[in-house]
Amino acid sequence: MPQEVILLKLGEIALKGLNRKSFEDVLLKNIRRRLQSAGAFSVSSRQSTVYVVPEEESADLDLAEERVSQVFGVVGYVRAGVCEKDLDAICARAASYLEEPLEEASTFKVECKRSDKKFPYKSPEISAEVGHALLERFPHLQVDVHNPDLTVRVEVRERYAFVHGEVKPGAGGIPVGTGGKAAVLISGGLDSPVAAWRMARRGVELTAVHFASPPYTSELAREKVKRLLRRVARYAGRIKFITVNFTHLQEEIRDKCPSELSTVILRRFMLRAAERVARDEGCAALITGESLGQVASQTLQAIACTDAVATLPVFRPLIGSDKAEIVKTAYQIDTYDISIEPFEDCCTIFTPKHPRTKPILHFVEAGEQAIDGEALLEESLETLETEWVYPD
Ligand code: ATP
Ligand code: MG
Repeated sequence: MPQEVILLKLGEIALKGLNRKSFEDVLLKNIRRRLQSAGAFSVSSRQSTVYVVPEEESADLDLAEERVSQVFGVVGYVRAGVCEKDLDAICARAASYLEEPLEEASTFKVECKRSDKKFPYKSPEISAEVGHALLERFPHLQVDVHNPDLTVRVEVRERYAFVHGEVKPGAGGIPVGTGGKAAVLISGGLDSPVAAWRMARRGVELTAVHFASPPYTSELAREKVKRLLRRVARYAGRIKFITVNFTHLQEEIRDKCPSELSTVILRRFMLRAAERVARDEGCAALITGESLGQVASQTLQAIACTDAVATLPVFRPLIGSDKAEIVKTAYQIDTYDISIEPFEDCCTIFTPKHPRTKPILHFVEAGEQAIDGEALLEESLETLETEWVYPD
């Protein structure tokens, strides 16, 4: 019998009816993959609960706990003490496993769930017994069923009983891989990593497309994007990272297109290039980190001009988010520190003094004619740099 396990609670995925089995299979696979470097664990599911059980001494439960907190599809997780299904054993285990929080609390209550209906005591009886035992062992405690400092939870399940405290909120969402594949246009900024994370949370597997214009943008800027992707990969799983060279295309736009339209023209080429990469990679949609009104290229009119070249759906999960909300998520997923490192992006080189904030499609299309877009696109896509990025 293991001494301690991690219990994971499943959310929405439990509601998926006939698809439930396949959702659960993907989830278990994702959890196992994330736990690989934390030691030997067995991962199995029963009745909307996933059991993460250490298989040998060296299995690192602290690390495993951190890892499972980043797996989409898990709404809650908690470490639990394990014991035989015997009332005295449960009382003793609750007292020892939760000794520290029980010492610290002034008030408590016990809640019990009994999924093994053959267990000879009903849930309220078990709660009452455990409560009594704890009051005897920790005389400073008082019972408060409405607003206790600590809720002791007892679960009597198939093979063992478990005792634990509060369930911590998990990463939520649905398992990555159940929602198809999409290509995220990733820069080194704050927004696109958050946008990527949001879509992964909805089950989407990510391919990342990054535009670089060396020597105007440095290899360090590209490395920065890679470091960001490693953080996103903690949640999203491994990500294929594809770098497209935009130097020649950008020089041509700078030299030949109307300068006040160059930003929106560049963005149209980004979308075109990303879409071709996406199709080759089997992606069904594009993702960007745009947020309405944030900069000149993110007005309704500019977005409309950019979108006009897309044939795949373009998802902009941050379109209605304020910067403060985006920053909050960036902190939460640990991308903030990297994002604010000052590096040039291909969007910020050659920026015109007066970009048009309300571009008109017909003028943008005319302005684009100054360059041989198709040839330049092909040239860019000829030499892609591709690598896999894994969670750090
Ligand atoms: P971010 O914080 O994501 O950089 P931003 O507010 O700086 O966004 P822009 O630089 O205009 O805004 O970029 C808007 C979106 O275009 C980005 O969120 C990203 O999806 C995409 N993008 C920008 N630069 C690049 C790049 N070099 N490679 C790939 N995609 C990019
Ligand atoms: Mg940017």
